[in-house]
Amino acid sequence: MEKLVIKKIGQILSGKMENPILDGDCMVAIDGKIEAWGYERDLNTDDATCIVDAHGVTLAPGLIDSHVHPVVGDYTPRQQQLHWIDSTLHGGVTTMISAGEVHMPGRPKDIVGLKAMSIAAQRWYENLRPSGVKVHAGAPVIEHGMVEEDFAEMAKAGVKYLGEVGLGTVKDGKTANEMVGWARKYGMQSTIHTGGPSIPGSGLIDADMVIETNTDVIGHINGGHSALPDDQIICLCENCTKQAFEIVHNGNERAAVLTVNTARELGKLDQVILGTDGPAGSGVQPLGILRMIAMLSAFGNVPAEIAFCFGNGNTARQRELDVGLIEKGYSADFVLLDQAQHAPGQTMLESVALGNLPGVGMTIIDGVVRSERSRNTPPAQRLPERIL
Ligand SMILES: [Zn+2]
Repeated sequence: MEKLVIKKIGQILSGKMENPILDGDCMVAIDGKIEAWGYERDLNTDDATCIVDAHGVTLAPGLIDSHVHPVVGDYTPRQQQLHWIDSTLHGGVTTMISAGEVHMPGRPKDIVGLKAMSIAAQRWYENLRPSGVKVHAGAPVIEHGMVEEDFAEMAKAGVKYLGEVGLGTVKDGKTANEMVGWARKYGMQSTIHTGGPSIPGSGLIDADMVIETNTDVIGHINGGHSALPDDQIICLCENCTKQAFEIVHNGNERAAVLTVNTARELGKLDQVILGTDGPAGSGVQPLGILRMIAMLSAFGNVPAEIAFCFGNGNTARQRELDVGLIEKGYSADFVLLDQAQHAPGQTMLESVALGNLPGVGMTIIDGVVRSERSRNTPPAQRLPERIL
């Protein structure tokens, strides 16, 4: 039995907007799953195989990047970068979801080829997690000519997510809606490229097409990078009652703030989730999710503990993942962070609400310490320490 005990936690963020800060100073995980949390005096901490002294820092569920474009291993041909996933782990991200392996050189666009690549990509990230990060990949981009059996076959083989609708030849709402319906029938989630073209060769997806297609996630509602006009973003927020409003770092920041302000006024902040949309033309953002949390808290008039939920719990719920929430039986995937040195504010959360990044001191995935002091964030005031 592997038993992780994290002691002397300053505060526990839950990932749950309805109750974002939990009482307690201790977390216990057994065999990679959350077992119990609360005050150390009330918990069974005997027989630990790993003990972390948090030295008073904050523990949060590991962050989730809802929108990445991986290709293979920890290499991206898009910007010829190595170790971008490891760098992102140092930004507190423990789970990533592919929106399509569209940067694969020579990517097959014929139907048998795209199915084969999706299944292979799902496998190679399941078989090899770069630095321990959970990468849910194998996200096919739909093309004209696909039939219901193609979706049944991919789902049976383990494919769980469609890549962004609109990056392939299907650019009309009627065809896209039919294919998204087939995907949903077999348990696959879907997302769509919202906004103007991202790179030469892609096209415009407007609010009408997003609504007609009816994907589970409104992919980069703030554009990737060109955003829709304000009235269309507001229309999406008003009309979509359960779809995720995905805000990405590689999008339009003004449109991101508009989305959060609109969602807040509509009482729909629980639909807001975050991604980076990297690697892309704008590059890779190891701190992208933390940067979005700080930016949206500062400019979107959202308490920092709620903005954190955009980056973990909301995404976990929308994506039906057993991560991102402090919940018994969920994966013991955590980020330990503290106020950055010399950042203004009385507390870590206040400093984030003022637009500053926190410092990451440790990441844990499946109950195993995966990284210690971040090489990428500003240095934290206090650092957790592994003492067993
Ligand atoms: Zn896109």
